[in-house]
Amino acid sequence: MIEIRNVRKSFGETTILDGISLDVHQGELLCLIGGSGSGKSTLLQCINGLEPIQGGEIHVDGVDIRSKSVSINHLRRKIGMVFQQYEAFPHLTALENVALAPRVVARVPRRQALEDAHRHLAHVGLGDKAASYPRNLSGGQQQRLAIARALAMEPRYMLFDEVTSALDPELVAEVLDTMRTLKREGMTMVVVTHDMDFVRESADRVAFLSKGTICEIGSVQQVMLDPQTDIVRKFLSRRS
Ligand code: ATP
Ligand code: MG
Repeated sequence: MIEIRNVRKSFGETTILDGISLDVHQGELLCLIGGSGSGKSTLLQCINGLEPIQGGEIHVDGVDIRSKSVSINHLRRKIGMVFQQYEAFPHLTALENVALAPRVVARVPRRQALEDAHRHLAHVGLGDKAASYPRNLSGGQQQRLAIARALAMEPRYMLFDEVTSALDPELVAEVLDTMRTLKREGMTMVVVTHDMDFVRESADRVAFLSKGTICEIGSVQQVMLDPQTDIVRKFLSRRS
């Protein structure tokens, strides 16, 4: 479980996250939605320790991520992250890209890492692309490679930040299908997306961020179909 308590984050004088409290339950798919600049990406980066927080607490599996006993590597192994624009290492094949972090960070022996990497590529539907270089993959395949790379560290949690936003429309479905498969398998996921159809179909819960605070959180039914605030109603009416 990820427990976020009263988290504050600022860049210089500007407050970006203003007292966020949120639990991410085991096995759930929580969608984070909200306007541009509302703090969605910043919140994900705070959760996996990419950005330090200035107030509040984040506990992952009961452990404060800022405690001295938690190394950043340990946290990153627990929490996989996939971004909108994914830069695979261009000089490595898909297989080598997936095997890299287990070899370098987790010190898995090369043979084992490559064997595992085959399994992770197959998992995201890229079993036949092991020898391909990233430049020879489509955008959708590159995003699935990014997911395979995150899975290679065998994380307990996965964070997704607008992973389909840069894709041509015909490539979006294959990436969303991969995410739905992970959910079916029980992965705990926090997904930032502007794809309201995906939210409606796949989210267990939805949180709406506005100006660094959560202004609504609940089931799809509650937030998407029966929003309580004008700001969420307006946001949704522009996008459906
Ligand atoms: P979008 O939907 O456009 O991706 P978002 O909800 O992900 O938006 P964030 O990227 O979290 O928003 O940004 C929230 C605010 O924090 C914005 O006003 C942004 O300009 C600011 N911000 C983000 N990163 C930094 C940084 N490194 N330094 C200063 N300000 C930043
Ligand atoms: Mg963002």
